[in-house]
Amino acid sequence: MEHKKIVLEYEALAHDELFDTDAELVKKAMGATYRGYAPYSHFNVGAAILLSNGVIVEGANQENVAYPSGTCAERSACFYAHARYPEAKFEKIAIAARGTDGEFISEPVAPCGACRQALLEYEMLAGKPVMVYLVGREKVYRIPSVISLLPLAFTEF
Ligand SMILES: [Zn+2]
Repeated sequence: MEHKKIVLEYEALAHDELFDTDAELVKKAMGATYRGYAPYSHFNVGAAILLSNGVIVEGANQENVAYPSGTCAERSACFYAHARYPEAKFEKIAIAARGTDGEFISEPVAPCGACRQALLEYEMLAGKPVMVYLVGREKVYRIPSVISLLPLAFTEF
């Protein structure tokens, strides 16, 4: 038997350590939380994706009374981005959330498993790592790629 280990290396940055496009992307993800439709969970999530054409596409969670019919911010953003700009490659994505008290959550928010799988598809289409920014109130985690959040992923059949 062989023991193996999966290690995730990432950076924890203060908000004022983000510059230019990174700062803008995080700000847009935070702004998108105010356009979430979350009457059931009251957990508002926003996502912003930087595309290779320079456009930043935003998404927010969209809940539904039939719970599984709704979708997360990350998937609302990535499906719209690829439907609107199918030729553009994903470069970076930022994800932010506000909790039931309306405040940005203290610990950086992470995408659910389904969103990791969906985002991975676009990272594969891009042919290079898509940087992921997980936004918290004080810290932003900079993750080097989507695949690093979904080791041993299902990628082909
Ligand atoms: Zn999700």
